Amino acid sequence: MCGIVGFSGTREAAPVLIDGLKRLEYRGYDSAGIAVADGERINVAKVKGYVRNLSEMTHDGADIKGFLGVGHTRWATHGAPNDINAHPHMSSDGRFAVVHNGIIENYAQLREELTAKGVKFVSDTDTEVVAHLLEEYYQGDAKKAVMRTAARLEGSYSLGVVCLDGTGRLFAMREQSPLILGVGVGENYFASDVAALVPHTKNVIYLDDGEFAEITPEEITVYDVRGIPVNKPISRIAWDVEAAEKGGYEHFMLKEIMEQPACFKATVEPRIKDGRIEFESFSLSDEELFGIDRIIITACGSAGYAGQVGRYVIEELCRIPVSVELASELRYRNPIINEKTLLIVISQSGETADTIAALKECRARGARTLAIVNVVGSTIAKLADHVIYTWAGPEIAVATTKGYTTQVAVLDMLAIYLADRLGRLEKSRYDELIVALHDMPGKIQRAIDLNRRVKRLAKRLCRHNDIYFIGRNLDYAVSMEGSLKLKEISYIFAEAYAAGELKHGTIALVEQGSLVVTLACYEPLLEKTMSNIEEVKARGAEVLAVVLEDNRQIVKMADEFILVPRTEPLFTPIAQIVPLQLFAYYVAKERGCDIDKPKNLAKSVTVE
Ligand code: GLU
Repeated sequence: MCGIVGFSGTREAAPVLIDGLKRLEYRGYDSAGIAVADGERINVAKVKGYVRNLSEMTHDGADIKGFLGVGHTRWATHGAPNDINAHPHMSSDGRFAVVHNGIIENYAQLREELTAKGVKFVSDTDTEVVAHLLEEYYQGDAKKAVMRTAARLEGSYSLGVVCLDGTGRLFAMREQSPLILGVGVGENYFASDVAALVPHTKNVIYLDDGEFAEITPEEITVYDVRGIPVNKPISRIAWDVEAAEKGGYEHFMLKEIMEQPACFKATVEPRIKDGRIEFESFSLSDEELFGIDRIIITACGSAGYAGQVGRYVIEELCRIPVSVELASELRYRNPIINEKTLLIVISQSGETADTIAALKECRARGARTLAIVNVVGSTIAKLADHVIYTWAGPEIAVATTKGYTTQVAVLDMLAIYLADRLGRLEKSRYDELIVALHDMPGKIQRAIDLNRRVKRLAKRLCRHNDIYFIGRNLDYAVSMEGSLKLKEISYIFAEAYAAGELKHGTIALVEQGSLVVTLACYEPLLEKTMSNIEEVKARGAEVLAVVLEDNRQIVKMADEFILVPRTEPLFTPIAQIVPLQLFAYYVAKERGCDIDKPKNLAKSVTVE
């Protein structure tokens, strides 16, 4: 999920690798390392923390000799971020060094198999199995070992491999995780991101899934899964160094919005095995599970709003009462909690101070605790009884986008999983929901394709100074996140209201010039929402309706509309929030705001 670089040439590799890693730093990471072959052995340096530390440790790479090697910045998914789990990982015989982005989904099974054969593992990562498999399959032919290893791996990966075979050989493999080969003169490269290639070359080859490449200083040979050479076109990168750092996007926020189909997939797909949801570390016994009489979701900010969506879905499917509590309130409320309470805490960073305090408080009172976090090894992940990671990769923009949607994705899966174990979900409905989960990345992509329309709308509507977001049921849950997004980055006063609550006070503020963003995707209550549209229009407000793509009725009533792709109704919030994220983004851009670093806000709120 983070960064890979590879180099083969006739000069020292380490400084090139370290420079490449520096150019990938913008992606966020928790540790860094390099492996370089000097003809006799593979030299490794790796460390928790920054590339700067790696650079100091090796005197800018001068201590690590050799002309070919790989480098890595890690964003931990399996095993805490520390020196040992940092990549590269070595085979026991020292012949192979491996760097990896992504997740090897069947690593547990492979690890067991290799351990039974006497292999000793040194790290907690999923990646290490790759190094040992390579050793296992090596019989004098590195290419064959690479192919046989790839055939055993399930999941998403881009891999860089150094093999001490002769003077050393370099391989790159790709399966559902980006890897780009850089074609130079007398030296060649690869990287997970063009940012690391542009200083050296603009000629690149895009590897496709299932392909792997052998890289020497003079030549790059790309093979398909069967080991047959493939003729690959060389493309030219049009970006300069700076543009490359954000993947060509102007802001991290936009890049992260665009990553959402892939992040959803990374979070959901590894947890569905043979059509069934399985979590790595959420293992309540039946007795514990049937004993749960209520669920409390606690979090702050957007994570809390993800919880609001989760509440509707869990209650609907599991028929267990769920409440969503602000962590900053719950911690001081002397809450009534016991061992029959399941406490779900949600935090992207896993370091949110109020959420940590609420978690500790509730644990002390006997609650069973489950954390949904993005950062592996974070405080919340360590404190909770169980943890389900959102494998969204590093999120850099302060305003969360992919962090939020993957939290909702986990809550959706959790609701299905719990409902099934409680015997409250028909098999046919279960299967239907699994199919719908598989469909979501495509639907999110279609929501992203609304980009141009939303940009135009933002241009037209960006001068409003007060904006209301209204909706009912799931629409209400999403409206909270939609309004927060806008507030955070555009500094426009925006508030979310349950549509039915509007007339109990807030409608007094609605007047000519107000903008009311009406979320109207929750079909059972559409007529009620339509009445609310009439009410605000009668007071002069302009209405931007967010509706399902085939709903012509509301489109006719509204001044402007955004058509959201139709999905399984319980999952619509995920598709629906995307145009609202884009709306916030483009409004903020029109108003000249500092989108990635909004004033007064921090990414990880580690203070009370
Ligand atoms: N799953 C691997 C690990 O946790 C790779 C993570 C990454 O993509 O950086 O070590």
